[in-house]
Amino acid sequence: MARQPHIVLFPLLAQGHIIAFLALAKLIARRYSGRFTVTIVSTPLNVRSLRQSLPPESGVLLREIPFRSADHGLPPDTENTDSVTGEGLEKLLGASASLRPQFERLIAEEITREDGRPPLCIIADVFFGWTVQIAEKLGVFHAVFTTCGAFGTAMYFSMWLHRPHRHTTAEEFWVPGFPEGFRFRRSQLPRSLTSLEDGSFGIAFMTEHITLSMSSKAMLCNTVEGLEPVAMALLRKIAGLRVWSVGAVVPLETTNSSGRRAGRMAGVDPETCLRWLDAHPPRSVLYVSFGSQNSVSAPQMMALAAGLEATRRPFIWVVRPPLGFDIKGEFKDEWLPEGFEDRTGRSGRGLLVRNWAPQLEILSHPSVGGFLSHCGWNSVLESLSRGVPLIGWPMAAEQFYNSNMLEELGVCAELGRGVEQRVSSVEVERVVGLVLGGEKGEDMRRKAASAAKTMRAASEEGEEKGSSIAALDNFLATVLGTTPPDDNRYSPSDTQ
Ligand code: UDP
Repeated sequence: MARQPHIVLFPLLAQGHIIAFLALAKLIARRYSGRFTVTIVSTPLNVRSLRQSLPPESGVLLREIPFRSADHGLPPDTENTDSVTGEGLEKLLGASASLRPQFERLIAEEITREDGRPPLCIIADVFFGWTVQIAEKLGVFHAVFTTCGAFGTAMYFSMWLHRPHRHTTAEEFWVPGFPEGFRFRRSQLPRSLTSLEDGSFGIAFMTEHITLSMSSKAMLCNTVEGLEPVAMALLRKIAGLRVWSVGAVVPLETTNSSGRRAGRMAGVDPETCLRWLDAHPPRSVLYVSFGSQNSVSAPQMMALAAGLEATRRPFIWVVRPPLGFDIKGEFKDEWLPEGFEDRTGRSGRGLLVRNWAPQLEILSHPSVGGFLSHCGWNSVLESLSRGVPLIGWPMAAEQFYNSNMLEELGVCAELGRGVEQRVSSVEVERVVGLVLGGEKGEDMRRKAASAAKTMRAASEEGEEKGSSIAALDNFLATVLGTTPPDDNRYSPSDTQ
């Protein structure tokens, strides 16, 4: 007997992407309980991690497809970008193409046999562009879910497709698809974009997946229409797709305090962390984290530590080995100024957390006044939804564009960029002081609080539906063919 229509979600093998897909899957399963079967597909280790933190009542099913990293010249059990850097990252991204036949078999044979019909819809990561071809072949509705924001995705797509910086030597240049007067600064480009040669793996990978994703039927974006109205219009234009803004799919309320998130166990007990925060005045603490897979260089780590100590403001810092060392390896004291952890710990001013922190719990605590972040989109949404302004230090991907956009919004001050820049302890002290104290900091906090309000309103599920919930309802009705879609296409008047 046929089950209810099946929605299959397929995130990239990256922690930040898995977290966002999981949140979207949970939202669909909860809001339309009993109306859809919702399944996340991933490789065995990622599925095992997800299983550990997914309560049975979530209504989300998990399916694994085989993957053996050793077959691709990677260390055994490498199934997530959080355990590789540099060349390893390229290898893992390249190896992810080997999932194609297994994914097709799962959809065309296993799920179709069990359900008595193919799935209703595949919601896939931008970097699994080939899923569009599988969906077309099987007559399944395909949508891309971008786990980034609208501005970040629009810039990322246009930059990779056109690489406009190569056509000029000017410091400021126009980006195709953006309004005539828009200029982006060369110094704000990620190294991944500027350092790659024509014909390199990185350029081939990006252009292939972005181009394929643009041939999908629809795009879901993890943002809020009211937060990025112009960027949403630009994304619709650049991607050439109907785009529904269904975010923020990050938990707006914090209920989980086990310290485990999408399978990752925190390096500190959340209770200890919260007690530590309780001992500090409201909005006085800086939280420092570079996401699930990035770290700064060894000299930058020293300067950051010295700057943090000099501010004499309390901080929680998620530390992992600096760039060039095994990112999953043990953290060594020698990477910090002598006696740093002891001194800052004893004075109650600093709490170092190894590898993974209960980020949502920390950001939700009233003592937190700022977040020094790599501007990964989940972190941005988690921070803004709690009214916490950011200090930007983008490291990779679209994080440079996010930091730029957040500065424009007035909720972020950029401190550093990438792993090559020399960041001085004096500059750390200055920017931290700016955001945690003074008028500028107050203004940023006010703007972050207003962003939080916009985000909460968008996720309102009552009679007066918020924009993101209405968008999700409309997207699913469109997939089912029960309603004409809202006009989610680009219209020139939207960017004027
Ligand atoms: N995260 C966490 N604890 C950590 C580091 C990261 O819970 O110590 C979570 C964070 O809350 C966010 C995700 O991991 O949901 C990281 O995603 P983001 O988009 O910010 O960055 P990425 O890791 O993809 O670069």
